[in-house]
Amino acid sequence: MPNMSLNKNPMPMQDPKVRAKNFEEVTYGYSKEAAQNEADRCLNCKNPLCVTGCPVNISIPEFINKIKEGDYNGAYEVISLSSSLPAVCGRVCPQESQCEAKCVRGIKGEPVGIGRLERFVADYHNSLDIEVNKPISNGHKVAIVGSGPSGLTCAGDLAKKGYEVTIYEALHAAGGVLVYGIPEFRLPKTIVQKEVDNLIKMGVKVITNVVVGKTLTVDELLEEYEAVYIGSGAGLPSFMGIPGESLNGVYSANEFLTRSNLMKAYLDDPDTPIMKGGKVAVVGGGNVAMDAARTALRLGAEHVYIVYRRSMEELPARKEEVEHAIEEGIDFRLLNNPVEIIGYQSSDPKDPKNGYVKAMKCIKMELGEPDENGRRRPIEIPGSEFEIEVDAVIMSIGTTPNPLIKSTTEGLEVTRKGGIIVDDNGKTSRDRIYAGGDAVTGAATVISAMGAGKLAAKSIDEYIMNK
Ligand SMILES: Cc1cc2nc3c(=O)[nH]c(=O)nc-3n(C[C@H](O)[C@H](O)[C@H](O)COP(=O)(O)OP(=O)(O)OC[C@H]3O[C@@H](n4cnc5c(N)ncnc54)[C@H](O)[C@@H]3O)c2cc1C
Repeated sequence: MPNMSLNKNPMPMQDPKVRAKNFEEVTYGYSKEAAQNEADRCLNCKNPLCVTGCPVNISIPEFINKIKEGDYNGAYEVISLSSSLPAVCGRVCPQESQCEAKCVRGIKGEPVGIGRLERFVADYHNSLDIEVNKPISNGHKVAIVGSGPSGLTCAGDLAKKGYEVTIYEALHAAGGVLVYGIPEFRLPKTIVQKEVDNLIKMGVKVITNVVVGKTLTVDELLEEYEAVYIGSGAGLPSFMGIPGESLNGVYSANEFLTRSNLMKAYLDDPDTPIMKGGKVAVVGGGNVAMDAARTALRLGAEHVYIVYRRSMEELPARKEEVEHAIEEGIDFRLLNNPVEIIGYQSSDPKDPKNGYVKAMKCIKMELGEPDENGRRRPIEIPGSEFEIEVDAVIMSIGTTPNPLIKSTTEGLEVTRKGGIIVDDNGKTSRDRIYAGGDAVTGAATVISAMGAGKLAAKSIDEYIMNK
């Protein structure tokens, strides 16, 4: 008999007051009992709509059935057929708008906690430390640019087929946004490192501190490799173009999070300069804004605002992250938009505060008619300007693909917004060059980047085998 409880088994987690001061993971994950109980809520539908909601079509009822049987490794194997990073996706995928949005249990009550079950299965599997075998080489060589989820997935799928894969990564650590963007309290670095280590055990070479387009070009890679996959992400931050954005104390969210995550600014005695106290305003309403705001709080900010120009209903961040941010004390200033960042200007030219952020001028907004994306358009309310006192501003209003690779690779076509153009097989306008993830779509999700890496691996294999 299925468990007909209307609610998901609750996720155990740290107390908000305690976790707002540490970088440890917020949620602990299900116990075996909770996982079993949650799996029993799945009705094993004949026509499982949840699968259609998953961008990589994981056989969800099948893996949940394995949990019901207590066969957690079997469950892992089912997920692995479609996803290479289940411990990551179980933590950060927007299940509420994907698989869980389609679950019939969600019609009357909460959907089955598919993401929580995926995380349980992956964590169980990872705790076993199963030996990873190196496949026999097929003698063919492929290069990957970027070690984010799309690059790692493409590398893993090709390595399993025997390809000799080398990943070139610009930063000093592999993992892309999973290590430099998403904070430790949401996705512990050890989880990503384990995936990278497994790839290395499979024979994948990871070369860090190489900026393709500067240190070497894609064309140079093509001299050594039969194909190249570009998974370089969308790491170029956008700014608003308002006065004061060049003041000291104004960061892009990417820079702020990288300083905290990769340059270890969260340690007690870091070498990396970063805003650690005072009042901080984060501009934007996506996952990145939530991560920046919650990181600022953990670094010691006395007050953190989220300034967003629409209302709570339009906020694009994951619901769970918004709830966690509110519980931790982040102050949401909705229907507000910055118009200027104001700096200190002392009459004493030697005052060290000169050139630093002092306040942010905002204007109140109201919502008008829906725009082309169906979201109600924010409209300024004339004469409603006001100031909030802040010591730092973190801009989190989006990112685009960096133009470096396009500008150094002749014949590589991109869209107006800089996304590399690919066909249905992930192939670019240039022979032997494939691309996927945020470098193609612009800022999107981990699971879509992974899906693109998988597709390209299949296409590269077909191309090389049919040559
Ligand atoms: C703070 C933050 C929070 C997020 N939260 C979520 C979430 O909760 N759920 C979710 O699904 N998605 C989330 N996302 C989005 C998700 O992380 C991205 O969509 C995903 O990481 C894209 O994967 P990718 O492999 O295409 O690119 P990336 O992860 O960006 O990796 C690209 C890699 O390429 C490297 N690179 C770039 N240029 C070069 C070059 N010229 N030479 C060599 N290497 C290069 C970069 O250093 C980077 O390591 C978040 C993003 C951010 C920034």
